[in-house]
Amino acid sequence: MGARDYIGSLFLKELLQGLIVTGRHFFQRKLTIQYPEEKTPQSPRFRGLHALRRDDRGEERCIACKLCEAICPAMAITIDIGEREDGSRRTTRYDIDYTKCIYCGFCEEACPVEAIVETPIFEYHGEARGDLYYTKQMLLAVGDRYKERIDADKAADAKYR
Ligand code: SF4
Ligand code: SF4
Repeated sequence: MGARDYIGSLFLKELLQGLIVTGRHFFQRKLTIQYPEEKTPQSPRFRGLHALRRDDRGEERCIACKLCEAICPAMAITIDIGEREDGSRRTTRYDIDYTKCIYCGFCEEACPVEAIVETPIFEYHGEARGDLYYTKQMLLAVGDRYKERIDADKAADAKYR
């Protein structure tokens, strides 16, 4: 230790330097956000939890074409198909495994009838692996619950296409 360091430590130079930094930041605008009471702005292009949408009659939009399953690079979507009594083709199973999904948005882009969409919802979690496995009924429930917001986002999106 040199003489300068010795004198510095004797007069607590580093402690004083630290207090100056603390004092300087004490009066500055705070950057910390008190989540979840406060939230940072979210990009309109944010891709979060998926939703399966219904049409105006309450019928599933999905026509079981499987394009979303085919394009998914993470193979996170699993679809089974069946035919209804009226001859229409529908999914009997539509699962998304969120332990695989990379939120790329390809499924939404590929869908010809805007049935599968990614919502801005990011506040969900799982405590076990199975909790992140969303079934068709769960995805339809997300679509029903956030219908107004999804429709508004879709309408806004259409203006820029
Ligand atoms: S966002 Fe991407 S990774 Fe996730 S399900 Fe859709 S296509 Fe697959
Ligand atoms: S969500 Fe869209 S792309 Fe996927 S199977 Fe249904 S209609 Fe086809």
